[in-house]
Amino acid sequence: MAGRSTGALVLLAVALPLALSACSPASPQATATPAAAATGSPSSAPTSAAQAPTSAAQAPISAMRAPAAATDPASPLVVVNKRTPLTPIDYAPPLTVPAVPLAVDGEGAQLSPTTARAAEAMFAAAARDGAPMVLLSGYRSYATQAATYDGWVARQGQEAADVASARPGYSEHQTGFAFDIADPGGACSLMPCFKDTPAAVWVAAHGHEHGFIVRYPWWHHETTGYYYEPWHLRYIGAEAAADMHARGIPTLEEYLGLPAAPTY
Ligand SMILES: [Zn+2]
Repeated sequence: MAGRSTGALVLLAVALPLALSACSPASPQATATPAAAATGSPSSAPTSAAQAPTSAAQAPISAMRAPAAATDPASPLVVVNKRTPLTPIDYAPPLTVPAVPLAVDGEGAQLSPTTARAAEAMFAAAARDGAPMVLLSGYRSYATQAATYDGWVARQGQEAADVASARPGYSEHQTGFAFDIADPGGACSLMPCFKDTPAAVWVAAHGHEHGFIVRYPWWHHETTGYYYEPWHLRYIGAEAAADMHARGIPTLEEYLGLPAAPTY
């Protein structure tokens, strides 16, 4: 196992320059920080996406509705990844500001109403368990994403832009169903070491109880298109989240029987 883990870390270090950030911070500095800090060791041995525990005999209960729900931007099961932009690409959800501790204001403090209610319950439960968290970044509009991405293209070209920022229309943050959390003290924000903070440990164990998944789990970037982001949570509804957790299915793509989306 030691050899396998070491090999995986070497691969991670080599691959990180190509890593894409789903959370597309607004500045080069913000992106450089998580990449530079990515030497944190994984909490468990990596599992290849090819070893995902899905099979025809264990089809997800949501598979029947996947074709419709996965492309409906108003559905909690909508899939947005590098192969699947939102439709319409400039979709804007209904929004509200959740009653949770906020580390952001303006547009980014908003979530879809369903997500906001679930987040309020989850943040409260986590705080009761001694794992307080804050909302670091929620909704991001098409216009905001376009400005961020275009800024990267202007400064460093499209290849670098795709490393640093999601293309407009391709970010889960545009759905209102996704947000990033942080430790109230700011420990390891948007960095791999966030996985060891009380908030991250808590959401990994209990997020599904409130309808959330860690959307970009460790070593499933070949399926999701993004390296491990223990801070990026996605609301998919309590039934689907509990089902995914019970079946040990790591990604939404696999759960809904959809193809992997490693690149644009
Ligand atoms: Zn995010």
